[in-house]
Amino acid sequence: MLNLDGKNALVTGIANNRSIAWGIAQQLHAAGANLGVTYLPDEKGRFEKKVGELVEPLKPSLFLPCNVQDDHQVETLFKTIGDQWGKLDILIHCLAFADKDDLSGDFSQVSREGFTRALDISAYSLVQLSAAAKPLMSQGGSIVTLTYLGGVRVIPNYNVMGIAKAALEMNVRYLAGEMGPLGIRVNGISAGPIRTLASSAVGGILDMIHHVEEVAPLRRTVTQQEVGNTATFLCSDLASGITGQILYVDSGYCIMGM
Ligand code: NAD
Repeated sequence: MLNLDGKNALVTGIANNRSIAWGIAQQLHAAGANLGVTYLPDEKGRFEKKVGELVEPLKPSLFLPCNVQDDHQVETLFKTIGDQWGKLDILIHCLAFADKDDLSGDFSQVSREGFTRALDISAYSLVQLSAAAKPLMSQGGSIVTLTYLGGVRVIPNYNVMGIAKAALEMNVRYLAGEMGPLGIRVNGISAGPIRTLASSAVGGILDMIHHVEEVAPLRRTVTQQEVGNTATFLCSDLASGITGQILYVDSGYCIMGM
């Protein structure tokens, strides 16, 4: 049954009400999960306030800062989860970053610094958070990350983020191989293009969405809620035999040749 009562779920990557992670958090909550939510701290505390107000109706029992480039913050986050929850069942990795300049124009012009930052935040962070979650998933668990078709095909302007998603998808397989014997499943959702803060940095995102609306079998792109439904399924016992997979939630776009 799709019932997450008694499950502790950590959701990363909520920035605002358009975030895919917000769609996921709502569906996990509806299925009965106890939520922990992280936000990316900034100097003026804007994200803390904004995300805090947004998630308030879901009554998260943990609300903590998490910049994945700050090892101390990640350590504190998982120590708090251990102290307050004792165990973690679900980890939602729903974050990415690349410099706007690296998300348009010629891919070959990406700087070493931009390349490294994109791969660090968008791909290495899954390894980092999964390693920290592993000892807390003593009764098994489910880890879900978000990827995009640009990690397996060339999508104009997606550029360095495509390389990060390719690494992320391989991370899913290696982590699934390592953690499967412990009952921890690791999967990715490859979502169709959705207007969000992160996607607005990708050159021509609206054209990408319009193209999907014209070509995808369902003749539309997907919603945050649809991605949330699939994530909730992947975190539930209904998906107990699924690990190491990338599931496409993209209105069928990826099957088309023309
Ligand atoms: P979003 O801007 O709402 O979410 C991106 C999140 O990443 C934000 O919450 C931001 O705070 C977080 N983040 C950035 N740098 C961070 C850091 N150093 N530490 C911790 N968090 C950090 O955009 P979104 O589209 O909901 O993106 C969520 C995920 O979905 C990303 O992995 C994205 O690549 C993926 N995705 C998005 C689409 C799309 O079209 N929107 C499609 C497929 C996959």
